[in-house]
Amino acid sequence: MKPDLQAQPSARKPLFRRVAVIGLGLIGGSLALAAKRSGLVGEILAADRSDEELALGVELCVIDGYGTVSEIVAGADLVVIAVPVRATVAVLQALQPHLAPTAILTDVGSTKGSFVKAVREVFGDLGPRVIPGHPIAGSEKSGVRAARGDLFEDHKVILTPPDNVDEAALEQLARLWTACGATVLTMEVNRHDEVLAATSHLPHLIAFSLVDTLAGEDQNMEIFRYAAGGFRDFTRIAASDPVMWHDIFLSNREAVLRVIDHFTEDLAGLRQAIEAQDGAALLRVFTRARAARNHFSKMLSGQAYVTDMSQKPVRFRLQPGGSINGDIRVPGDKSISHRSIMLGALAEGVTEVDGFLEGEDSLATLQAFRDMGVTIEGPDDGHVRIHGVGMGGLQAPRGPLYLGNSGTAMRLFSGLLAAQPFDSELTGDDSLSRRPMNRVADPLRAMGAVIDTAEGGRPPLKIRGGRKLSGIHYDMPVASAQVKSCLLLAGLYAEGMTSVHEPAPTRDHTERMLEGFGYHVHRDAATASVIGGGKLTAGHIDVPADISSAAFFLVAASIAEGSDLTLRHVGMNPTRTGVINILKMMGADIEVSNEREIGGEPVADLRVRSAQLSGIDIPEEQVPLAIDEFPVLFIAAACAEGRTVLRGAEELRVKESDRIQVMADGLRAVGVETTVTPDGIIIDGGQAIAGGEIDSHGDHRIAMSFAVASLCATGEIVVNDCANVATSFPGFVELATRTGIRIQSEEGE
Ligand code: NAP
Repeated sequence: MKPDLQAQPSARKPLFRRVAVIGLGLIGGSLALAAKRSGLVGEILAADRSDEELALGVELCVIDGYGTVSEIVAGADLVVIAVPVRATVAVLQALQPHLAPTAILTDVGSTKGSFVKAVREVFGDLGPRVIPGHPIAGSEKSGVRAARGDLFEDHKVILTPPDNVDEAALEQLARLWTACGATVLTMEVNRHDEVLAATSHLPHLIAFSLVDTLAGEDQNMEIFRYAAGGFRDFTRIAASDPVMWHDIFLSNREAVLRVIDHFTEDLAGLRQAIEAQDGAALLRVFTRARAARNHFSKMLSGQAYVTDMSQKPVRFRLQPGGSINGDIRVPGDKSISHRSIMLGALAEGVTEVDGFLEGEDSLATLQAFRDMGVTIEGPDDGHVRIHGVGMGGLQAPRGPLYLGNSGTAMRLFSGLLAAQPFDSELTGDDSLSRRPMNRVADPLRAMGAVIDTAEGGRPPLKIRGGRKLSGIHYDMPVASAQVKSCLLLAGLYAEGMTSVHEPAPTRDHTERMLEGFGYHVHRDAATASVIGGGKLTAGHIDVPADISSAAFFLVAASIAEGSDLTLRHVGMNPTRTGVINILKMMGADIEVSNEREIGGEPVADLRVRSAQLSGIDIPEEQVPLAIDEFPVLFIAAACAEGRTVLRGAEELRVKESDRIQVMADGLRAVGVETTVTPDGIIIDGGQAIAGGEIDSHGDHRIAMSFAVASLCATGEIVVNDCANVATSFPGFVELATRTGIRIQSEEGE
């Protein structure tokens, strides 16, 4: 007997009145259970080849009733096909005459191209209410008995809606999946099949094949007795349903073949390396793979091939007041960390780096060199070992080089890659993709490079390889260390001399480090020059603590009463000490001790105590020396007595955000009025800093600056969009808390 085709609808108006599930197995049953639990559906009916499974479904309270396909589809407003993908055409033929025009038709199959093809075959075209789906959740079990109501919790469901999709229908279906605990993503059908071929189908194939090979090698299968946990984990998926997988491989044939070919080619490369006892090649692949494994979630989100609604923003909540005390060392200098990888990769020999900043930016640089065939071990507690490949040893990367949020990396890479024999493409996250790159692309073009940019000179940068570069003399219109470094790096490969004149002093880490690697840089007043065709020799680099990170604590301890803080091993490169010079001019109490030189870079310990600051006219020659520190210097100015005037700082408007405007907006939000000028700002100190809510526009330095402002505030300050702080200052919240800032990091909306 078929119980109860007219099961009781729920009292509330449901999202779907009747859901028809065709194929009551693991996935169909789990969806039925989860949908029931959500309370969003009226009745759930199923059809299946096996009456026994259906009866069991009712007995286990998975479904409310069952019938034939025609019986359950008529009157359903959602029809879910949950049969093996190869059975789809037969099921569609059976349901087609009974499907209401208003019903949504979806499926759960593991391949999507095959479903779309089947719908076209049976229906002629893909209607706007046909929305293919694929839950990325499952198990090796099958049948309704294995169904679980929590199967989709914390898992993704990919929907591949057609271009003409009925948006309301899409939203309705997404709501149901979300209520089942899943995160819904949308993707194109072909992209889905390619991604799944690589990330799911190939691993299953390898697991099946490996277990089969080993079982065949040992007649009694005794061999498995000696297998450890690694083998068990790696081959778990070989216990999956053979029929289902046979279906999947045949349905996703082309994408799977492509990825199998790619894999067998790489496997043959590894075999070859083992045969030839080429340890370096093995190490290169293994370190690259390990790094990719550790960071792949970040890399994937950066590639943004899907809209992932689950990425959570970070918010800082700051209680007012407090004083700053302790003895700390802030993370390693970002600029020096970046350059140590770049020059280490191009050097001959092994370069050891200590104090490396393990922020996302420098890790992206490191990964990019791995993508170009450089073996890099670590980072391991700030230690990195780079096996240099020499000036001509970089290899063509397989795909675009993703540089995250790092403008420095993108500008430096463009100089380096313009001179390589291979084509390359540089991409970054949303914020980097908005930043102008013509300031490097134009002079590089003058050297003979071919570089395409997106509209407005923005990333991605497509760089043509195999160009012969010629040295030029370049007068920088705006002082920029990134542009200078980019051209000097290109100049290493160019014919003749490349010289760059700067209108005001900028950071000289590249020049210092080139010298450290044995490459002579001629420096004559405001001009730096290199002659192409030389080589770099590996060495040891002890990265100093980043003065830009120290700056937040210099200002914090100055403005908070009762503070006494020591900062150790701070980089004191004269092109970077503008923040100390400016703070001292404002009356800050900063004591410099233990001055020494490490790897060409000056380093010192700094002791800073609270002081009454006064407003000043910031000398223009100090501007490039403190360019990244202005956001926090604006906070110092707001807490000072009298007026502070900044001029000649238009560069600030094209940083991670328009730092002048965003800071002015933020200060206004906490009750401090300022006057924004085209190239700077005027801040009258002594206005009370109230509580308020700040939008950091994803700019890490803005976020940290307002964390410092809380020390002098009268109310709670909330800073939104702070996730990027981790990119430049890993451990900021912990260090801030340790020294006395009353900060809490929480998940934003
Ligand atoms: P399952 O537990 O074996 O369930 C499949 C169900 O479909 C069974 O009840 C089967 O009936 C029924 N069926 C087979 N052919 C049919 C036909 N021609 N007409 C009507 N019913 C038919 O498999 P599953 O794991 O739920 O897989 C279902 C779908 O989900 C597949 O397309 C699969 O690709 C997809 N999927 C699976 C997973 C996973 O990890 N398992 C994950 C994501 C997506 P019988 O009981 O008579 O065989």
